[in-house]
Amino acid sequence: MSDIKSEILGDAVRNVIIIGSGPTGYTAALYTARANLKPLLIAGSADKKTARIKGGQLMATSDIENFPGAIETGVDLDNWAYLDEAGQAAAIQDVKGLSGPHLMTKMELQARHFGTEMLEEFVTEVDICADPGGVYTVRTESGREFKTLSLIVASGAAAKTMGIEAEDKFFGQGGGVSTCATCDGHSYRGKTVAVVGGGDSAMEEASYLANLGIKVHLIHRRDEWRASKIMVERVKKNPSIEIHTFRAIVDLKGKPHPLAATSAFFKDKEVLAGAILENTQTKEREELALDGVFVAIGHTPNSGLFKDQLKMDEAGYLERDGHMRAIPSVNACNRKMHGMEHVPGVFVAGDVSDHTYRQAITAAGMGCMAAIEAERYIAEKLADAMGIDGNALDMSMESVAQSHWSSERDQMGEKPMIERVVEAASV
Ligand code: NAP
Repeated sequence: MSDIKSEILGDAVRNVIIIGSGPTGYTAALYTARANLKPLLIAGSADKKTARIKGGQLMATSDIENFPGAIETGVDLDNWAYLDEAGQAAAIQDVKGLSGPHLMTKMELQARHFGTEMLEEFVTEVDICADPGGVYTVRTESGREFKTLSLIVASGAAAKTMGIEAEDKFFGQGGGVSTCATCDGHSYRGKTVAVVGGGDSAMEEASYLANLGIKVHLIHRRDEWRASKIMVERVKKNPSIEIHTFRAIVDLKGKPHPLAATSAFFKDKEVLAGAILENTQTKEREELALDGVFVAIGHTPNSGLFKDQLKMDEAGYLERDGHMRAIPSVNACNRKMHGMEHVPGVFVAGDVSDHTYRQAITAAGMGCMAAIEAERYIAEKLADAMGIDGNALDMSMESVAQSHWSSERDQMGEKPMIERVVEAASV
């Protein structure tokens, strides 16, 4: 057996390691597991505030309303067709989005059901330079070392926070502080919130929340805006948005949780009641009554592991080509990758490479694309090692993707690509 064949079919070198356990990582794991690539997903562990927690940014999200299909309703949907009009209307009315942790746990179980191996640790080092296109090395915080033929970087991004002490206390899951209006905004319908920031994100979040019928106080530390003029104008014209310039939130105030009187669990818990604003010029302070604070002061992509190896933009977002392949940095690995247009076998997906859409559903979609690309990459390596003509086997991207269309793919004769290669070799 050639080295590469024993690596792909054996266990010493992994076929694929996925870094990150948000929607991107779990979707990539689901797809690569169903392709029999036996993925290892290195999930992170616990750091709620920076969303480096296993499960990613959605772990700090209450109800998710915009992930298609991620809903609950009291009605047995298998009997949907038998419900009368009133029953269907009641079921539609009853629809509730899953909480972030609920959806992420479901994604984890689904990925593991199909054979994903999980490791709850942080990756501390990735060595792409030693053998580009060959075997990559991944090291974790406990000192473990893994070798892999391909890598899916799904390490996400962390929302920046204001850095005030009280922020932690109210962060996530209905506490009152959020970094995602599209995730949590709907819980504040009819209430009053602040949005912090002066960039496009803050303008977008303020407009989004105001359009949900929420009174918004936009808090910005200067009176000049980073946001585009058109977005600032839109905010200025919105009667539900009140702008406070030269203001910073320096403290947050709480009140007893609404369930504190009736539930032992919530007895000592607080929810947000307001914020102390400081005038950044005069240092005068005032209190503002609020139900929520949305911090929209930018994101930091979790791409530090790839400094001097992979190409990233000024803000640190990793760049990729149309096939989700990572691009080497200009002087990658002391120019070892000079002239290479992409790094073979290294795929980049989700928020670590996306500062525009940043939605769970777009992240999941990219995870799927990266996984299918990784499957083809590994299958091509195996075919090469076994002396198989890829054209004869139809290893086109379309063919690989097609084999994922049906959940009954074995019955349909559409096998995972690496099985098709091994079968072709034994004919
Ligand atoms: P950004 O442009 O970097 O703006 C961050 C804002 O937060 C700035 O106004 C900054 O204030 C403020 N800020 C930073 N740290 C702060 C702190 N500790 N306390 C209080 N305020 C703080 O970030 P972004 O708005 O997330 O946008 C990132 C990129 O995505 C931009 O290129 C943007 O154009 C793009 N984007 C585009 C759209 C769209 O076109 N629809 C939507 C969202 C984002 P200073 O100004 O004083 O530094």
